[in-house]
Amino acid sequence: MTSRYDEIASNLDRVREAVKSAVTSAARKYEDITLIAVTKTFPVSDVHILASLDVHHYGENRDSDAAPKAAAVPGTWHFQGQIQSNKLKSIASWAHVIHSLDEARHIQALDKVAIHRIGVFLQVSLDGAEGRGGAAPADLSALADSVLGSTHLDLMGLMAVAPLEVSSDQAFEKLATIYGGFKASYPMATSLSAGMSNDFESAISHGATHIRVGSSILGSRPTPQ
Ligand SMILES: *Cc1c(COP(=O)(O)O)cnc(C)c1O
Repeated sequence: MTSRYDEIASNLDRVREAVKSAVTSAARKYEDITLIAVTKTFPVSDVHILASLDVHHYGENRDSDAAPKAAAVPGTWHFQGQIQSNKLKSIASWAHVIHSLDEARHIQALDKVAIHRIGVFLQVSLDGAEGRGGAAPADLSALADSVLGSTHLDLMGLMAVAPLEVSSDQAFEKLATIYGGFKASYPMATSLSAGMSNDFESAISHGATHIRVGSSILGSRPTPQ
């Protein structure tokens, strides 16, 4: 029987190799990619295993699951779930980076409750659909200005989730165009958070600097979230 350690180690090797070949094809550098292991729904014991395998960026979608894990394992903790106003104070207590901001009122509220600096990705919607989250491209500059006017928040860049209806290449090509325009106005926004287990190679070829990979490393989740 393979141990959980061996399972995670071999999955991680495979993901790291795939990242290496994607950066090589894109004439980019491996060091330019931050691999965030999405540990949502998985136990803290898995996070300890990841730490021993030199993965120190962890992604979570739910405040109540994430807070105890972040308290137990040092590292860079990313929140990428849907934002609820009443959870912002708690999220701000453990998260170092938030990927899913798409409303000015949440940015202002987060700045008020933050007790340390927090890196912020603005989530952009690639298809305008409600539900998956994300601001319309036209609203990004107002959101970015609100981050720049804050006291505790650092503007890192844009984040997106590829819509299901189009190919990941089409989605991330569109994202790259939006991001190119955004970065021209906000040159400090040097990061692009895009790509999950099934599309991170495409995201890397379109400029992603932060990839959020869960199931390819940790296995399938018991409940979709
Ligand atoms: C769950 C989740 C991921 C990871 O998804 P996998 O397909 O398991 O890699 C990445 N980003 C967001 C926003 C998620 O909710």
